[in-house]
Amino acid sequence: MSIVVQKFGGTSVADAERISRAALRAVETKRAGHQVVMVVSARGKKTDELVSLASEITKKPRPREMDMLLSTGEQESCALMAMAVHELGEEAISLTGAQIGVKTDGSHTKARIISISTQRMKDALDAGQIVIAAGFQGVDENFDITTLGRGGSDTTAAALAAVLDAELCEIYTDVEGVFTTDPRVVADAAKVEQVSYDEMLELASLGAGVMHSRSIEFAKKYHVNLKVKPSYSNGPGTLIGPVPVAPAPMVTGVAFVRNEARVSLIDVPDQPGVMSEVFSRLSENKIPVDMVVQNVGVNGTADISFTVAEDDLEKALQVGDAATASLGGTVESLGNMSKVSVVGHGMQTHTGVAAQMFSILAEHDVNINMVTTSEIKISVLIDHDLCEKATRAIHSGFHLDRKETATPEIGVASPNIPRARTDRDATKLEEDIVSRLSGMEDTVVSDIYGDDSQARVTITQLPDTPGIAARIFAAVANGGILVDMIIQNAAQDGRAIISLTVPSDDVGQCIELLRTAAGDNPDVQFSFDQRIGKLSVVGIGLRSHTDVGARMFRTLADNSINVQMVNTSEIKVSVVVAAEEIDKALTALRGTFGVS
Ligand code: ADP
Ligand code: ASP
Ligand code: MG
Repeated sequence: MSIVVQKFGGTSVADAERISRAALRAVETKRAGHQVVMVVSARGKKTDELVSLASEITKKPRPREMDMLLSTGEQESCALMAMAVHELGEEAISLTGAQIGVKTDGSHTKARIISISTQRMKDALDAGQIVIAAGFQGVDENFDITTLGRGGSDTTAAALAAVLDAELCEIYTDVEGVFTTDPRVVADAAKVEQVSYDEMLELASLGAGVMHSRSIEFAKKYHVNLKVKPSYSNGPGTLIGPVPVAPAPMVTGVAFVRNEARVSLIDVPDQPGVMSEVFSRLSENKIPVDMVVQNVGVNGTADISFTVAEDDLEKALQVGDAATASLGGTVESLGNMSKVSVVGHGMQTHTGVAAQMFSILAEHDVNINMVTTSEIKISVLIDHDLCEKATRAIHSGFHLDRKETATPEIGVASPNIPRARTDRDATKLEEDIVSRLSGMEDTVVSDIYGDDSQARVTITQLPDTPGIAARIFAAVANGGILVDMIIQNAAQDGRAIISLTVPSDDVGQCIELLRTAAGDNPDVQFSFDQRIGKLSVVGIGLRSHTDVGARMFRTLADNSINVQMVNTSEIKVSVVVAAEEIDKALTALRGTFGVS
């Protein structure tokens, strides 16, 4: 008999009536001939209330006790849900994470799942019961209760669906499905019918709160059919699945993180080992970083900037201080920033998505503090107060509003993107790797490849005013040049630095276009490297597993290879090194990650 997992979020189990409605849905699914596992969150704002209660008692609650406390929210709702099912005349059993056998590591408040036993759930299902699992929780090897991080019930649901080989995992929530952006911020956001695992991974990890990003890692690794659906109606919801919709829209969605901070290490030595030093320390402290940017070194020194969640800023600054104490240089930080990102498979083959995003921001007077890209996303760091305005502007600028139908044409370049392996090979490889993992959430690195067909162009001494990035990238896009990586570092003394990579053959034309775009500004300078080596590590959950970047940088440092540019996403981390180092770097990285 096929198994269906149904997860109900906080709003969907907030009171007795909603609990009964959720129970009815499960009962109907069972009566339609399925075995049903429900995963429930804490009721309404319960988890927030518990967090604030703890904070009234102490400013620094111990993580072990927080887990003991927060896990009670889910325990309450799963018992109530079992009663509601009983009331409808069906058998049900509520189970905590420990009772199911959800084993996690011991990192309290952000534990990762190691394994899940299926015996007890299967026995109950075979006995005709609906299994009601408490989301968000597990136990470590000492049987101490752990939680998976805020929003983690989605991850419980996807993980249970994976181990039970469920036909479908339904995530019932308080919206119609996955939208082009947060419908609470943009009233005209449109529900999407289907979104790929990769896009959803990026959207979720870049701030789209509708799904816990680790649930999408599970779904992708274990081929779980995920559907996000409204709990209050019979709306069809959104399917999250393996294939991108064809033809892929340039931009599928816009995500934002309101509270982001920037840390800059200024005048650190431009030599192998610096990135490694910084990122090993960040990884040891489990601080996820995004938007990593290193300036191309001048006079033997470089500036490194990265962003962290504002809550992690204090810890990140301590890491920065420790790193500069041993390396040299100084640490600066900037709080009160927000990160806005666009995500879409289509941008791999379209020129000008970045240019369009930058020009929308310029038209709305939003200055861009930092830029990073990967194949399917572009992120900008902007002033906190402009976050919602920028999100709305980008959303309507890309015609994502509900009433819009057709997307306007932007140049399509012949996609000369060096692919990893073919999709089918990659899937097969991933499956082999996943089947050998010792912990269900361990990092999956499935491929590492090099590309020496690109050039780097760097523009320095740009005035740091709205519209600069827009002009530059519009010029390049209008010339039909496919830009691969873009980084703009935090401006120093009112001057910004932008580096981009383009096909080597296009570098001459690119610089011509840039010179024209810079007009008569005599300060602006250009430099380029006709051939660079770009190395990419491909896998799943690469940014949220903080050790992947650290291991890459360590490996390159051990081989005396300097890192010139970096870009990160959940599915790929790429670094630029000198072209002549590419073979050495590839061999070393493949050794580190055990990829042949
Ligand atoms: P639950 O309690 O059911 O897990 P969440 O609050 O975690 O619900 O997630 C649903 C909320 O996510 C929505 O109410 C919506 O405001 C927000 N959200 C953010 N980004 C998106 C998006 N792209 N699509 C849909 N909802 C989004
Ligand atoms: N109750 C937890 C939270 O509010 C987990 C969840 O709802 O997914 O974060
Ligand atoms: Mg949620």
